[in-house]
Amino acid sequence: LVSREVKPDDTQLRIGDLTIGGSAFHVIAGPCSVESREQILSTAHAVKKAGATMLRGGAFKPRTSPYEFQGLKGDGLALLAEARQETGLLVTTEVKDTATLQAVADTTDILQIGARNMQNFSLLEAVGDLRKPVMLKRGMSATIKELLMAAEYIVARGNTQVILCERGIRTFETMTRNTLDLNAVPMLKALSHLPVFVDPSHGIGVRKAVPAMMRAATAVGADGIIVEVHPDPPRAKSDGAQSLDFSEFEKSMNEVRAIAQAM
Ligand code: PEP
Ligand code: MN
Repeated sequence: LVSREVKPDDTQLRIGDLTIGGSAFHVIAGPCSVESREQILSTAHAVKKAGATMLRGGAFKPRTSPYEFQGLKGDGLALLAEARQETGLLVTTEVKDTATLQAVADTTDILQIGARNMQNFSLLEAVGDLRKPVMLKRGMSATIKELLMAAEYIVARGNTQVILCERGIRTFETMTRNTLDLNAVPMLKALSHLPVFVDPSHGIGVRKAVPAMMRAATAVGADGIIVEVHPDPPRAKSDGAQSLDFSEFEKSMNEVRAIAQAM
C-alpha cells in the first residue's frame, strides 16, 4: 500500500492549515525534551519567528540509560498544548508505548514513532487504528525496505497519514553519532508515495555540523526537516550536543529557505 506502483501520485497530509508532501517544504523545530514552561514557550516563539511551521518536543523520552532524564511525561504534554495554544504552531511529540498512546494522541498533531520503536508492531498497529498523522522514524539498524514495511503496518490498518523520517543509521563511523543516510531520500521518494522528512540532528549528532546537513537534506528533495533547537544547548537535559541555539537556527532557516525555493 505504501508503494508508488500502487499509488503513483504523492500522498499529501492536511494537518490544520498545513499541507505536508507535494511541493510544500516544512521545518519542524524544538527541543529534544520539553523541560520547563519557559524553555518550551521561548523556543516555540523563536522557531516560529524563524519560519518553522511546527514545534517538536519530547514528553515521554526513550533514553539509553534508565538514570537519564525520562521527560516530563503528562506535564510535558500539557506544556506542549500550552505552546500550541499560545503560538498557533502545530506540535509533534513521540509516543513511546501503547499505554500512553491515547494521552499523546489527544495532545499532538503528529504522533512520532521513534527509531527504537520502528518495529514495535503492537504500537504500529495501534497508531494504524487511529486516524491521525504519524511520523515513522527509521530504526538505527533498519534497511529502507524494513522502514517501508513498518509503514505498511500502519497503512494496512487504514491510517494512510504516514510521514517517513530518515534519522541516521549505525555504521562503523564513530566520529559522528550516526551516519545520515541521505541516499534514503531519493530511494524512498522513488519507492513510495509517502512524504519523507530528514532529522539532521540525530543524523550527525554534532551541533556545528547540523546546518550543513539541514541544507543537504533540503537539496536532496526531502519534504521537510525536523531539527532540535534549545535556548541554551550546553544546559539541555537531552541531546544538547546536537541542538542549535536560536541564532544558529535562524541563520540555517534562511539558507534552507533559499534552497527550498530554488528547487
Ligand atoms: C528524538 O527525536 O528526540 C529521538 C529520540 O529520535 P530518534 O527516535 O530518531 O532517536
Ligand atoms: Mn533527541
